[in-house]
Amino acid sequence: MTRPNYDQFTCNLCGQESPVTQDFERETGLCSHCGSNVRFRALMLALSEHLYSQSMPLSAFTPDKQFKAMGLSDASLYADKLASLFDYTNFYYHTKPFLDIRNIDHLASDTYDLLITSDVFEHVPPPRHVAFVNSWHLLKPDGLLLLTVPYSTLPKTIEHFPALHEFEFIQDGNSILLVNRRIDQTVEVYDKLTWHGGVGSTLEMRIFSETDLLYILSDTGFKDIKIWNEDVPLYGIHQAHLNCSYVITAIKDASATPPTADQYDPYIDNIYSQETAVLHSLPHTPERITGATAERVIAQWRNNLHKPAPSILGKAYRYIKSKFQSNNSNTA
Ligand SMILES: [Zn+2]
Repeated sequence: MTRPNYDQFTCNLCGQESPVTQDFERETGLCSHCGSNVRFRALMLALSEHLYSQSMPLSAFTPDKQFKAMGLSDASLYADKLASLFDYTNFYYHTKPFLDIRNIDHLASDTYDLLITSDVFEHVPPPRHVAFVNSWHLLKPDGLLLLTVPYSTLPKTIEHFPALHEFEFIQDGNSILLVNRRIDQTVEVYDKLTWHGGVGSTLEMRIFSETDLLYILSDTGFKDIKIWNEDVPLYGIHQAHLNCSYVITAIKDASATPPTADQYDPYIDNIYSQETAVLHSLPHTPERITGATAERVIAQWRNNLHKPAPSILGKAYRYIKSKFQSNNSNTA
């Protein structure tokens, strides 16, 4: 944990002066007025640099209703402002307007000047290239992908459930386990799941590696890929020491030919095998279990197949909804 060596910053989201707090990490370093964290401020600053070639607060952005932008569950504390500036739509996995980035059939290709996806792609079920390929399709030629995911500096991505196909969460005592039926019909059980936002909320599917991310971006047809890793004291962006999980921007290269979304996984060599992940105790590796617990959970899963499940996803949706409601009284 490091605290910046300055006492005040100007929040580039709300424009207010805020004192620097003791806790100043990627998801903290909160603005005392609007609650923005370091990630949100870094995200909007990268957008400012891209649009105007200078570091400006959101309040100084030029309104342009011809500029078509979309977000994937963007936080309302910057989404509302973007909606007032641009022709901007915030899509959700759990509520209208719906978008599961794995399926973009209901949206037109080559449509958006900007696609924002902040800490979403680590939750999208595998194969992980689909979210990148579909983002490429949604963007106009030379459109901007504004991306964050938590990532490591390990050589490869840790894919927690590489053979995920049909899966469900089963409560077993105090634990929530994942039951997955692979394409080959094998049924497997995972324990020690990692949730973002508390147990039962949003499941972490993977920990990207920076190397893998840059490779996928480039290979799926993005150019001018830039990692925004600098500190910007004026706006309370204190991050250089982290060495990872920075904002990344990339431009759609319309001349590229991305892999198809239905391909199994063109970048499978960039992920650790499950065995390697467990063997080396890589961070947050869920454990594939066998034995009595697994048998019990599979039996319960088979039983659930015959009745409507009180889905854990319902809980996740309520959590996400409450999270966004707390940031935005206008959200229905
Ligand atoms: Zn603020």
